[in-house]
Amino acid sequence: MRSILFVARAGVTSRVLPAVVLLWALIGVTAPAGGATPERPRRVVVLHDENKDFSGLALLDQSIKDALKAGIPSGLEVHTEYLDVSRFHEPGHDAVVGEFFRRKYAGRQIDVVITVMAPSLDFVTKFGGTSWPGAAVVFCGIDRRELDGRTLGPNVTGVLVKREFKPTLELALRLHPGTRNVVFVAGTSPFNRYWTEQARAELREFESRVTIRNLTDLPLESIRDEVSRLPEHSVVLYLHLFRDGAGRTFSPNEAMSLIAERANAPIYVFLDQYVGLGGVGGWVYSFEVHGTRAGETAVRVLRGERPKQVSVTEASSSLNLFDARQLKRWGVAESALPAGAVVRFPDVSFWARYRWHVAGACAVIVTQAMLIFAMFVQLRRRRAADAARRVAEADAHQRRTELAHVSRAATLGELTATLAHELSQPLAAVLNNAGAGQRFLANGSPDLAEVRAALADIAADATRASEVIGRLRGMLKRGTTVAAFEPVDLNDVVRTVERLVHGDGVAHRVAVELDLAADLPPTAGDAIQLQQVVMNLMLNAFAAIDQPGRLVRRLVVRTRVVEGGSGVEAEFADSGSGISADVIDRLFEPFVTTKAEGLGMGLSICRSIVDQHGGRLRAENSPAGGATFTLTLPSGSLPAPSTLGVPPLREGSVGPKSSRPFGADLA
Ligand code: ADP
Repeated sequence: MRSILFVARAGVTSRVLPAVVLLWALIGVTAPAGGATPERPRRVVVLHDENKDFSGLALLDQSIKDALKAGIPSGLEVHTEYLDVSRFHEPGHDAVVGEFFRRKYAGRQIDVVITVMAPSLDFVTKFGGTSWPGAAVVFCGIDRRELDGRTLGPNVTGVLVKREFKPTLELALRLHPGTRNVVFVAGTSPFNRYWTEQARAELREFESRVTIRNLTDLPLESIRDEVSRLPEHSVVLYLHLFRDGAGRTFSPNEAMSLIAERANAPIYVFLDQYVGLGGVGGWVYSFEVHGTRAGETAVRVLRGERPKQVSVTEASSSLNLFDARQLKRWGVAESALPAGAVVRFPDVSFWARYRWHVAGACAVIVTQAMLIFAMFVQLRRRRAADAARRVAEADAHQRRTELAHVSRAATLGELTATLAHELSQPLAAVLNNAGAGQRFLANGSPDLAEVRAALADIAADATRASEVIGRLRGMLKRGTTVAAFEPVDLNDVVRTVERLVHGDGVAHRVAVELDLAADLPPTAGDAIQLQQVVMNLMLNAFAAIDQPGRLVRRLVVRTRVVEGGSGVEAEFADSGSGISADVIDRLFEPFVTTKAEGLGMGLSICRSIVDQHGGRLRAENSPAGGATFTLTLPSGSLPAPSTLGVPPLREGSVGPKSSRPFGADLA
């Protein structure tokens, strides 16, 4: 395919070539040196002796190609072949391979064959003329000694390996000063054997210092056994092993690893490819450096230099190379290494190598964990707060409900008690008069005048009861005028009530004395309500006096002008039991009573009414015994019709108080 394309391109090129040459001349570009024409691609075959995938050869192959590419960036074809000489060494095999290449490359002009190692050079010397006719040869991978006995044709050049074995053993003995035994390990392939011979010849001079033992003809398993039980103060030198003593083939890297796996002594090597496979290191030959040199030499030939003009070079391609892990394993300090030594595979711990990654990951994890924890805590707090709020709300609701209930119950209770209290007296009077009327009528000749009087009293009591209810209804209407204020004569109030309760006084056997001031100014207020106050105070006095065995049974009601003339007073001094110490502080509170049948509402109602009138009501025990209640009301001008409600019934003391309307709780 490529050739077809090339032919097509050649046709076009032949027509345009004069123009291109002219253009080159104009812009000063010269044609490639040596007359290399751009019409067809340059073709190179890299021929290895062994499998090109063996790591040393692979390195060499790659560095050759890199150098070729760097020198000829375009129009270059590189083919790679290998002979596999360790596995295919039967007589005549090479001729078969030579014929194979001839056929394979027929029609493709090869410009340069790069031979890697001596067997490749030998092969090309023998079959190159038929396989790749006309190709120049650039050899590599052989040293000067290998050139001996070989005749290089005019078309051959190359780079020589400077193989050195002594420096590695010298290094090993310096780093392991107590060494007494040296074990030399290599394979049995021709390549192995050639170099074993070279190495042993070079190392012979050490035999005076150490015992050198060769493990070169044994099966690999036996070699492994041997190196696993070496005596103390031993070092191993590994050359290479393509084939073992039993004829089994290996890649030298594989063999190296298998030996290193078992060895109980440090292994020193001569090739860089074994550093990293268990070898400590050594003065090692670098395939990379050597391959680059071979590639560069081939580029010169491709560019048109004749091979004969390109001299064969021999430059050292070695360096002191070590594996840090093995140095550590065998107790060799890096400071003991020669200056300029290269140490690979630094034995860094996971932590040292990844500490920033680990620290970063940890920081992220810790931060995330903290955030999650904070969110969790916040969530729990919020939930707890929500729960507490719900409980508090439920509690508050419960309390409000209870409070409303209690408040309503209390208000209803007070209302009921007030009604019962205020109506009990007129109803009792109605009952009494009705009874009296019936008795008069039962008489043979009824006294109709008495009956009429009884009926009149009943009517009066009923009217009074109705008025009481009317006043209470007025008090319940919040915000409306609760009392019809008008000038009221306190003396009249007292006299009226005295008449009303006269029967009660008689029943309680109490003498009522009135001591009323003659010049009493009027007060402003609701006469009916003030009568209720006076009646309550007088009936209470009767109850207090009406005790068994009490001799003095008297109630004195006095009225007078308050000192300074600001008001009028009515004083109710009885000869009763006096106010009990239990209740004296709470006398005016609702439901405070010492009586078995008492409601404890009378004084509470009195206080409410007196408050509404802007007056005061106070109580004290008299030094001579008995209780004295004093009702004080303002005198003078009429106050404006009050919108005051009835102060709360539960308030304790007498005097101007809250203006909360009575019955507000019912609203
Ligand atoms: P009740 O008469 O139903 O008990 P009150 O509010 O009228 O209710 O009176 C409350 C309490 O005040 C009475 O139970 C009584 O102990 C006391 N009290 C009222 N007036 C007198 C008084 N003149 N002498 C002694 N104690 C009194």
